Amino acid sequence: MFGSQVQDSRAQNQQNAQERAVVLEAKLTTEKDQSILILTFTRPVSVFSYPMMQPDRLIIDLPLVNFQVPDSFRQARSPLVKMVRFGALGPEKSRIIIDLSKPTRIARMGFVPVASGFAHALRIELEAADPRQFEQEARSVAEQIRAQRTRNGDNDTIQSQPPIKSNEKRPLIMIDPGHGGPDFGAVGLNNIAEKDVVLAFAKTLREKIEKSGQYRVALTRDGDVFIPLRERVRIARSQGAHLFISIHADRIQNAAEVRGMTIYTNDERATDAEAALLAEAENRADVMGGDESEALREEVTDILEDLAKRETRIRSGLFARTLLGRMETMGQTINKNPIRSAGFRVLRAPDIPSILLELGYLSSQSDIKSLTDPQSREKIGQDIADAVFRYFALNPAQ
Ligand SMILES: [Zn+2]
Repeated sequence: MFGSQVQDSRAQNQQNAQERAVVLEAKLTTEKDQSILILTFTRPVSVFSYPMMQPDRLIIDLPLVNFQVPDSFRQARSPLVKMVRFGALGPEKSRIIIDLSKPTRIARMGFVPVASGFAHALRIELEAADPRQFEQEARSVAEQIRAQRTRNGDNDTIQSQPPIKSNEKRPLIMIDPGHGGPDFGAVGLNNIAEKDVVLAFAKTLREKIEKSGQYRVALTRDGDVFIPLRERVRIARSQGAHLFISIHADRIQNAAEVRGMTIYTNDERATDAEAALLAEAENRADVMGGDESEALREEVTDILEDLAKRETRIRSGLFARTLLGRMETMGQTINKNPIRSAGFRVLRAPDIPSILLELGYLSSQSDIKSLTDPQSREKIGQDIADAVFRYFALNPAQ
């Protein structure tokens, strides 16, 4: 066992008897040298914390709770804390991630009574830690997670998962809304989080494609939950998807005028430095969301799949160009350099043509407007759906 645990006796007694706890409020304040994070719960739960590095952060694990914290809390900062993120990590677990400006330790953590009597405040006192000690502890945590993974057996690699054979003749489009849960993705103007924008968008696209009756559509995530990148690929393969569309929305520092859609395909040799940086950022999803075992996993490559991969790469490129063509024809806003490649982990299914679509920039007020306005979302969704129809008309699913 690693990390430190707060096991509240009331939590034990009430856990089964009651509905899921709700986090109503969050507050980050500074007192002397300490940063104090206070989360107001409807009832106490057990919490478990440990440090991770690259980037430096504190992880707090808890049972599945319902976060109803206002979006404005995404702006909360302190001398020690860059950002506090939280969300569902799966069907049973939630996670709070405290992104740190420097090595920090939890001096004290526990539930304290709240004056109203109806709520329970989790008070977390943070203070600067000795960098060497922080690193040592984070290293030991990483090692234990690695050991646990080895013990549990690592037989769920992408390559070992054969697709299910189905009698269903209609092609299956797998739509992959990026990020989710404690992995917010980019946080743009007005505290808008990428994870919310892309989920709403994916649902619109699903509706547009399904309406044709010619295709089946599935989503890798239907709610605000974290799913590791490898798991997204596994879901697509296990369902025998014929096309994989990962949906994202980027943000760019100090360039509010940059806007428009960009289409990415997978290639270890990136077309340009910017694409390489983006892939690196997107590949950090596992780290940012907190599936540490995914983040620490080494890549496995299989030479036998090279042939399939070549065919898949050609088809991915065909879809990317079909999509771009449609967007141009329909007058959608497109980035200056609209088709690029880099090594995206989520695009690594060897046998499913895959693209990653960056819808636009959450740092651009006009992009935010077109991505969150239901009417323009419908319009963009229809144009992407039309590109899917055209692609399959020219390249029937095999
Ligand atoms: Zn993203």
